[in-house]
Amino acid sequence: MIKKIAIIGGGPSGLMAADILSANRYKVTIYERKPTFGRKFLMAGRGGLNISHSEDLHNFVKKYGTKSFIFKEIIDNFSPQNLRDWCEGLGEKTFIGSSGRIFPESFKASPLLRAWISRLEKKNVVFKLNHDWQGWNQNNLIFNTKYGEIFTHADVTLLSLGGASWPKLGSDGSWVNILRKQGVVVAPLRPSNCGFVTEWSDIFSKRFEGKSLKSVILSFKGKKMRGEFVITKNGVEGNTIYALSSLLREEISANGSAQLTIDLKPDFSVEEIKKRLQKPKLKLSMSNYLRKTLNLSNVAIGLLMELPNRKNFNNFTPESIIYAIKFYTLNLHKPFTLDRAISTAGGVTFNSIDENFMLINKPNVFIAGEMLDWEAPTGGYLLQACIATGAYVANTIIKKI
Ligand SMILES: Cc1cc2nc3c(=O)[nH]c(=O)nc-3n(C[C@H](O)[C@H](O)[C@H](O)COP(=O)(O)OP(=O)(O)OC[C@H]3O[C@@H](n4cnc5c(N)ncnc54)[C@H](O)[C@@H]3O)c2cc1C
Repeated sequence: MIKKIAIIGGGPSGLMAADILSANRYKVTIYERKPTFGRKFLMAGRGGLNISHSEDLHNFVKKYGTKSFIFKEIIDNFSPQNLRDWCEGLGEKTFIGSSGRIFPESFKASPLLRAWISRLEKKNVVFKLNHDWQGWNQNNLIFNTKYGEIFTHADVTLLSLGGASWPKLGSDGSWVNILRKQGVVVAPLRPSNCGFVTEWSDIFSKRFEGKSLKSVILSFKGKKMRGEFVITKNGVEGNTIYALSSLLREEISANGSAQLTIDLKPDFSVEEIKKRLQKPKLKLSMSNYLRKTLNLSNVAIGLLMELPNRKNFNNFTPESIIYAIKFYTLNLHKPFTLDRAISTAGGVTFNSIDENFMLINKPNVFIAGEMLDWEAPTGGYLLQACIATGAYVANTIIKKI
């Protein structure tokens, strides 16, 4: 008898599993609570759809931190090259950008998603949109639909319900309570690749909100990131901040705050700054003097004026200025909320699933994508992991069932 497979959640992990399973002897149905599939994937496409990264696999899997030993097998089974070939099979060639990141040539998600869905249709995958999964009634799946509650049976269920960032796109973590009631251990969902709250003066946030601080080096606990970050009304965000976000979040959770160190002028050594500050200040204001001697940006000067002793800004000694420029300390109080984060940390723990990614407490229910308990920086590592776990689970289902 042909087995019925229910995939719940139509993001990249679920759609990839459907692509592989539908080429086999199953009747595959994808259930999705939204009227269309892949809304977060489309949102990722607005930034060019950084779908993976070209660095060597040894370094690639390190990006999954304490879970890299698990992702080694997942990425070996569906590597960045496999992902590129798969995109090309859907008519979307990819290229490697100067940073090593991989993008589709169209720099968009929509052509890829359209081709993907059209291929699933041709392979007779059944689409059940506007179906909001509520859990189980004994062994039947329950969905809320516009016609009321419906119950359905599946031989195998794959949950690919995403994390809880940007909930308006569909994934809001409502599955956490459903699974906890089944005895599944779910690590608390937390923001990852997120900004952080700090205290700005009104003058500073009004003047610099939305402005970037470019070519700086951020350091925290021995990890350094060179690049830029953005000033927000009540904090900081941007790629360099995201890259440090898991460390910063854990520090805040343990100690109540985190002190981020910023080198505002990484291309000038302390000696070079000292030499330049020997020029007489004459009647210049301190801001103009620093702009002229060190070519500091307005935002960087604004940051110096945010220091606790800013009232004495005009009388800073060269030593204190040099220290503040090379070792600027920004006190971060808390991460931005999960709904503003790029991705989610926490989720179904790897102790709750077996080596096939099947729930130990719920036979024939498998998990893939961002709802698992892992996190990684931006750079293509998120989509690669979601799509590769979807592929891994589909292949284990094929072997097992
Ligand atoms: C602004 C932004 C930019 C990003 N850019 C990038 C990038 O450039 N590169 C990168 O690698 N990653 C990026 N990401 C992250 C990436 O998009 C996600 O990691 C990825 O989409 C997660 O895939 P998923 O299939 O696990 O979950 P999702 O894509 O979240 O899909 C889960 C699906 O399940 C559905 N669902 C949830 N609950 C239910 C329910 N109860 N019943 C039925 N359906 C349900 C949701 O509606 C959703 O469609 C970005 C994320 C954001 C927010």
